[in-house]
Amino acid sequence: MKAIRRFTVRTVLPEPLRPLGELASNLRWSWHEETRELFRSLDPAGWRAAEGDPARLLAAVSEQRLAALAGDRRFLRRLTAAAEDLADYTTAPRWYQEQTDLPAAVAYFSPEFGITWALPQYSGGLGILAGDHLKAASDLGVPLIGVGLLYRHGYFRQSLDRDGWQQEHYPVLDRDSLPVRPLREADGSAARITLALPGGRTLAARIWTVQVGRVPLLLLDSDVEPNQPAERDVTDRLYGGGSEHRLLQEMLLGIGGVRAVRAYCRITGHPEPEVFHTNEGHAGFLGLERIRELSREGLDFDAALESVRAGTVFTTHTPVPAGIDRFTRDLVTRHLGDDGELPGVDVGRILELGRETYPGGDPDLFNMAVMGLRLAQRANGVSTLHGAVSREMFAGLWPGFDPEDVPITSVTNGVHAPTWVAPEVLRLGSRQVGASRAEDALMAGGTERWEAVSGVPDAAVWELRRNLREQLVEDVRQRLRASWRQRGADDAELGWTDHVLDPDVLTVGFARRVPSYKRLTLMLRDKERLAALLLHPERPIQIVVAGKAHPADEGGKRLVQELVRFTDDPRVRHRIVFLPDYDMRMARTLYPGCDVWLNNPLRPLEACGTSGMKAALNGCLNLSVRDGWWDEWYDGENGWAIPTADGVADEDRRDALEAAGLYDLLERQVAPRFYDQGRGGLPQRWIEMVRHTLTTLGPKVLAGRMVRDYVGQLYAPAARSHRAVRGEAAVELARWKRRVRQEWPRVAVDQVETVSVEGSVGDAAELGATLTLRVQVELGGLDPSDVDVQLLSGPVDTADRLTAPVAQSLKPVARADVEGRHTFEGPLTLDRTGAFGYTARVLPAHPLLADPAELGLVAAPPEAEGMTAGVLR
Ligand SMILES: *Cc1c(COP(=O)(O)O)cnc(C)c1O
Repeated sequence: MKAIRRFTVRTVLPEPLRPLGELASNLRWSWHEETRELFRSLDPAGWRAAEGDPARLLAAVSEQRLAALAGDRRFLRRLTAAAEDLADYTTAPRWYQEQTDLPAAVAYFSPEFGITWALPQYSGGLGILAGDHLKAASDLGVPLIGVGLLYRHGYFRQSLDRDGWQQEHYPVLDRDSLPVRPLREADGSAARITLALPGGRTLAARIWTVQVGRVPLLLLDSDVEPNQPAERDVTDRLYGGGSEHRLLQEMLLGIGGVRAVRAYCRITGHPEPEVFHTNEGHAGFLGLERIRELSREGLDFDAALESVRAGTVFTTHTPVPAGIDRFTRDLVTRHLGDDGELPGVDVGRILELGRETYPGGDPDLFNMAVMGLRLAQRANGVSTLHGAVSREMFAGLWPGFDPEDVPITSVTNGVHAPTWVAPEVLRLGSRQVGASRAEDALMAGGTERWEAVSGVPDAAVWELRRNLREQLVEDVRQRLRASWRQRGADDAELGWTDHVLDPDVLTVGFARRVPSYKRLTLMLRDKERLAALLLHPERPIQIVVAGKAHPADEGGKRLVQELVRFTDDPRVRHRIVFLPDYDMRMARTLYPGCDVWLNNPLRPLEACGTSGMKAALNGCLNLSVRDGWWDEWYDGENGWAIPTADGVADEDRRDALEAAGLYDLLERQVAPRFYDQGRGGLPQRWIEMVRHTLTTLGPKVLAGRMVRDYVGQLYAPAARSHRAVRGEAAVELARWKRRVRQEWPRVAVDQVETVSVEGSVGDAAELGATLTLRVQVELGGLDPSDVDVQLLSGPVDTADRLTAPVAQSLKPVARADVEGRHTFEGPLTLDRTGAFGYTARVLPAHPLLADPAELGLVAAPPEAEGMTAGVLR
């Protein structure tokens, strides 16, 4: 068996240098500049060759150099300090340890994790968000365990052919040189989990651990003995292969992932998770495995489901149907049926969980997002707008409820500032407020700390911006040369690349994956107009573009080619470039180096978007469609909003209108403001916008803020529910729900009437008048304590529909009458002028529900009789 290389390295590290091994294998180095500096100083040339990856550096550094360093007292002092700092970071109490009543641990499942380019296990925003979530959890001391897959090829590397057509490469990742360690049993053997597959086959996987600061990340890898070749390929690459391949990956992630968490906690003594967080539907099978665990302990399916739901949080990330996994029911039945992976769990019940029960749903498909929502008592979207869009999108699962009442909340994404803020920006901040407060501001937020930016002098801001732009220009030239060599150009033809871009020209960046809704080529809509902007004699702009199309997306590749061909034109090629192989490494130079970050998705399909947040943290201004996070936090002065033509159904016309809006903004507002360089050559109004961006957006866009929101709004309540809905309580809750569902067809609102009036009421009632309302309801076999009878009141529109109803609970006042009707009463004060109305509804009520809409049951009076409306003057 081959020893893992870091192991080998450790054995050859001289004793005094031992701590380097720990510093290299804890990925905190990826967001800790001082640790990186330490490695760089070890061997600057080797550091460059290792592309800034400490594990690779240590594998390559010469023995003489190590021997010299082992006797270098200054280096050893720095090493000791760095090792102590890491030990302190990973053990000292942090924010989480100051709180009470929080989960003992949270397991966070995601199909991809973008932590550093040295561990390429991500394709784009979803993975990088997951990486930032782990890092921020680490900073805050949140006891998170990450769970994912280790893909042998990661995601593809992109290059271009001569014609600008995307080429994909899948380098094999040598696990021996990745910053991963095998999880081992006490006897030293590698820890494994297995899954049963149809036909008596098994799928085994080993478990690797990655240390992300304080947070362990478990990655499952099926490329092991004794798997057959097909099973070894289950973790071959991210988002590749057909439907069955995807299903196997997701079974391994969800079902295998829970088993890996159990193994990890058993071996290391880590507390068991009380909350399971599913980052997007791909990991949803984790809920089924937990149902199986509880079934084995003797709970029936319904009780196990209640118990699992109580401790599960589901985050949906996309309103784009293509982003949601759907499998045929046959395929799911084959894998999860009688002789399948989940013995004792009825496959019929599993299929029901993924059934698209809304109008237009496909009865033959199993929908992972739908299952995710049914397996989680708490669910959220990733920006305020996306929350609303998701409530609308999934409203069919809660029939009878208005979209506003659908129980899907939102937590707006954030980005991990220590990863994404350029060291130059941090240093400027440190000069202003001191190093530890600047670091604090990045991790914890706090508006006051960010306010300090307003004290940074104009000249310093501008010098910083130019410095960052210049670094980007240098990076672009190198990448462009490398790309052209790859495309078959000869060095002699490439002299022009030395003069590509100009460090004093307004620089616009656009980089993202290339699904059609992101509209990579919107800027090409009017090529002459774009060329005129690029070549403007006094106020030119330059544009850096990057992005990968999914390998199976021919349309996306055509868009890349169209863009590349435009950038190849000798007339404009010094002002617009396409850089192949967008990844985290490129991103770290690109975001800070741009003056303007462009985003022009088809609203509202961008759930959040995070690249613009990273740009903002570096003083880059956003120019974006009001979608995702920008809809929420654009304030008129922190950037620009590209006007959207949402109402225009013809997509082509809509593109034309929005592109024209984009050109207008660039030409009339963005460029003039950038070049309005008055006193001392400084564009004061621009600099003011940079400062305003930092002070207002800085504290909001942080992953630290996001993780604290998750803890407070979702993890803590889920942990409380998890503790309450166990064993007999779960059985009781399931039994209660069954009874309510059974009886519900007999629940009805019979009558809503006014029984007394204080003040004057009539067709034109008086402000301040109070009515006492009485509602009579039929409850079938239910008890008044099983329901909440609500009065809904508020302004009405011209069709007498409530527009923003306020709900208030009414009290039961009398036992059932001879016909079995129950009476509820309560006061209604008329405190608003204008057209108003009121009506009533009945909802199931139980202390263990997280939301009154949870069961998807509601009873309201018949449409025609329900509403009482009047005008209040
Ligand atoms: C942040 C990031 C993304 C996601 O950006 P969006 O704005 O959400 O598209 C994608 N790729 C890389 C490399 C990133 O750093």
